[in-house]
Amino acid sequence: MSHSIKVIRSAEDVKAWRKSLPAETTIGFVPTMGALHSGHAELLRQARSLCEVSVLSIFVNPTQFGPNEDLAKYPRTFESDLAIAEKHGVDVVFAPTPEVMYPAGYSTYVEELEITKTLCGKFRPGHFRGVTTVVLKLFNLVRPNIALFGLKDAQQFFVLHKMAKDLDLDVSVQGVQTIREIDGLALSSRNVYLSLAERELAPRLYAVLRAAAVAISQGADRAEALARSIEELQLTGFKPQYLECLELPGLTAPTGALSAEKPYLLAVAAYLGATRLIDNVIIRPERLKEFGIQFS
Ligand code: AMP
Repeated sequence: MSHSIKVIRSAEDVKAWRKSLPAETTIGFVPTMGALHSGHAELLRQARSLCEVSVLSIFVNPTQFGPNEDLAKYPRTFESDLAIAEKHGVDVVFAPTPEVMYPAGYSTYVEELEITKTLCGKFRPGHFRGVTTVVLKLFNLVRPNIALFGLKDAQQFFVLHKMAKDLDLDVSVQGVQTIREIDGLALSSRNVYLSLAERELAPRLYAVLRAAAVAISQGADRAEALARSIEELQLTGFKPQYLECLELPGLTAPTGALSAEKPYLLAVAAYLGATRLIDNVIIRPERLKEFGIQFS
């Protein structure tokens, strides 16, 4: 499609637009909470190259924020988001209000019960329930062929991939590798919360994680390597929430030595001042193909 970008606000309008497309049209979908950066742009670029039509959603989803989280102050930059979307050939931006997604009396939620138990799930109760619910609703409205999610939020990606499989959804949930600043910091809409001093320290999170991943994949004692990395993060000024090495794609704790045949996720969440940062490294990502998991 080569016409200008279309902004849709209501569920009825997005359904009507979807119905107006020829049945064989392929749709690539990128759900976001806006405040777009080059990480989101990469998802949009891939949607564009994989499908005939690309749809971006911008919705700061209240049901995935805890009571003490940053819902009210989450950055909202609609005009510049639209410019980025336009530049990346997005056909439709679906930007509903909370009332459109959760009208008065709304009472249905969808929940994954295994993968959500660990990592962020332990510290953000209800978060993934909000994510799976809103993404399922968005999938029902947009009915995409392919939906792209960043591996920066690795647990989210594996949860959504599992949801699509468990619920027989007719959508291919695909991952996109983490886009980083030159110094290694994973791009995130929340990086704007960092002070200048914190911004200078922030890349240490990925540096420590990578060093741990190298040590662990070379056979170092896992518990020791993780403990050392946590200590290093603390000394740098982080307050780590978790640093764990889990088997993929089920996010289960490995027993004994890691297998040289299996993929693993080394994931971290840590506060730097008031800002919570997450990052991860996938060990042996090529092995994910065996589980039907695609990423690029
Ligand atoms: P959000 O920033 O929560 O609105 O994320 C929207 C989508 O962009 C999710 O699929 C994220 O995983 C993805 N995303 C966010 N940051 C990055 C990044 N640095 N690299 C790749 N994808 C990202």
